[in-house]
Amino acid sequence: MTRLIASIGGEGAGEIRNRIDAALARGADAIELRADLIGGMSADDYRAVRLQLPDDVPIILTIRSAREGGQWDGGDDERVSRLIELGPFADYIDVELELWRRSANVRQKIGLALRRADPAYGHGGEDASTLVRRRKLILSRHDASGRPPTLQKEYLSAAGQNACAVVKFAWTARSVRDNFEALELLREAPKPSVMICMGADGDMSRIVAKKFGAFGTFAALDATHQTAPGQLTIEELKRDYRWDAIDPSTELYGVIADPVTHSLSPAVHNAAFEQAGMNRLYLKCPVRAGHESFKAFLVEVRSRPWLGFRGFSVTIPHKENALRHLDECGGRLTDDARRVGAVNTIAIDDDATLTGHNTDLAAAVACMEAACGGGVDALRGRHALVLGAGGVARAVVAGLIDRGASALIANRTDARATALAAEFGGAAVAWAQRHRSASRADLIVNCSSVGMWPNVDQSPISADAISHGPAVVDAVYRPRKTRLLSDAMARRCVTVDGLAMFARQAAEQFRIWTGQQVDWDQLVQFADDRLSRV
Ligand code: NAP
Repeated sequence: MTRLIASIGGEGAGEIRNRIDAALARGADAIELRADLIGGMSADDYRAVRLQLPDDVPIILTIRSAREGGQWDGGDDERVSRLIELGPFADYIDVELELWRRSANVRQKIGLALRRADPAYGHGGEDASTLVRRRKLILSRHDASGRPPTLQKEYLSAAGQNACAVVKFAWTARSVRDNFEALELLREAPKPSVMICMGADGDMSRIVAKKFGAFGTFAALDATHQTAPGQLTIEELKRDYRWDAIDPSTELYGVIADPVTHSLSPAVHNAAFEQAGMNRLYLKCPVRAGHESFKAFLVEVRSRPWLGFRGFSVTIPHKENALRHLDECGGRLTDDARRVGAVNTIAIDDDATLTGHNTDLAAAVACMEAACGGGVDALRGRHALVLGAGGVARAVVAGLIDRGASALIANRTDARATALAAEFGGAAVAWAQRHRSASRADLIVNCSSVGMWPNVDQSPISADAISHGPAVVDAVYRPRKTRLLSDAMARRCVTVDGLAMFARQAAEQFRIWTGQQVDWDQLVQFADDRLSRV
C-alpha cells in the first residue's frame, strides 16, 4: 500500500489537531509531523495527538535540518535529544542519512529513540513493547540543488543499513526526465522507498509513485501549507490525479508543454477516464522549448516501456517539434497532422510505434461549422477573417480552405500573416486594417491571445466592426465569455467559445487513445469545473 502522507506543520496543539483532522477528512492515510515546522507543542501535546489518532494511521516524526530544506535551527545533539523525547509517539522516525552516518554514538542514540517506550502511551490496548516493535527508521536525503551526483550509490548504501526500514530520497528535478530515474529506483528498490523529485518539474514522481509501490507520497493539506517545493495537495492527488485508482497496471498519458502549469488537459482527461472507469492516468509533462528537449523526452519515454506511457497531448511550443521528431524516428503521421504541419496528439501502440495526429483541425472545423449553421457545407463560400497567425490559426486556416471558405488573415506581426496565407492559400491583410476587413466578413475567428486572462477587457476587434452580425468563434477559453464574445452576443451574432474548441479536440484525443467516444460537451463541463477552481 502506498500511503498518502499529509505533511503537517503549524503553531500550537489546537492548530496541529485541526490540520490533522482536515487531512484525514480529505483522505490522507498517514501523518508526518514536521517538528521543525511545529511550534508551541510539548511532549504531552504530541502524546495527545498520537492517542487521538486511529490506530491504523501511522505518524512519521521528522525534524528536518536547514541543510536539507527544513527549519530546524538547533544543533544535531539537540535534534537527537528531541527525537528521543518525541520518538515514543511516532510509528516512524525520519533521520537524515548524513546525521545517521555521523558517528556510532549518534546511531546509538537514534536506536534509543526507536526503542524508548512511553509508559503513559498506549492505544488500542497495546502494551508498550508492541509499540516499540512497531517504530521504524526512515533514512532520508534531500538535495535542493539538484540530483545528488552519487544518487544510486547513496541510495544503496542507505538501503543496506540493517536498522533502516524505509529509504527516502528527494532532490530538485533538473527537468521532467529526473522523474524517470526516481521511478526506476522505486521499481527496483530492495526496500520500501520514497523517491521524490522536488520543484515544478517533479509532479510525476509524486503521483506515479503509487504505480511503482512506493512506501508513500507526501502531500500538503492545501496550497498554502506546502512543506516542500512542488508538493501537491491531498485534494489534487485525489481529485485531479485519480490517486485511489492508480495501481501497477495503470496506463499513463500526459500533456507535453512549456509552460504546463495552467493546462486544463489533466483535469479534463482524468475526469473522462474516471467517468469511463478506465485504469488510465493523465499527467503534466513540462518539457522545455526546443526540438532537442522534446526529442530527449520522447527517447527516454520509449526506452522505458515499463513506465506504461500510451499517449501524449502536445501543445505550445512543441507541436512542430513533434511533427519533425515523428518524421525522423519513423513514426506515422496522419493526413491532418501533415496538412496542418503540427502534431497535437501522439498515440503509442503496443509495439511502441508512435502515431502523430492533429485533432485541432477537426475541432476548429466543427466549431466554425456550428457557428455558421452546421452541416458539412456550412463553410463553403464563406468569407472568414482570421485574427492571429500562431498555432491555432494554422488549423483554422487549413480547415477554412479545405471546406471551401476564403481566409483573410490579420496578425499583429504582419509578416506571419503573409507567410501563413502563402502556405495555405489564404490572403493577408495588415493588422491595422482588421476592423475594416471584419465589417465585410461573415465569419470572424479569433486565434490571437487578445482577451485572454488577465487582459479580459481587451478584444482583438472593435464592437462596431461586428455590428452587421457575423458568426464569431473565439479560441481563447480563459475566460470562457471573452470581451469579443460578449460584444458579439450583444449584437445577436452566433458565437462559439474556446472551451467548445478545446473540448472537441480533447474528445477526439480520447477516441484515438481509447477507441471510445466521449461527449465533448461533457468535457466542457469538466473544463469549466476546473476553470472555476483556478
Ligand atoms: P501562439 O502560437 O503563441 O500565437 C499567439 C497569437 O496571438 C499570435 O498570432 C500573436 O501575434 C498573437 N498575439 C499575442 N499577443 C497579442 C497582442 N497583444 N495583440 C495582438 N496579437 C497578439 O498561440 P496559439 O496556440 O495559436 O493560441 C492562441 C490563443 O488560443 C491563446 O489564447 C490560447 O490560449 C488559445 N488556444 C485555444 C485552444 C482551444 O482549443 N480553444 C487551443 C490552443 C490555444 P504575433 O505573431 O504578433 O506574436
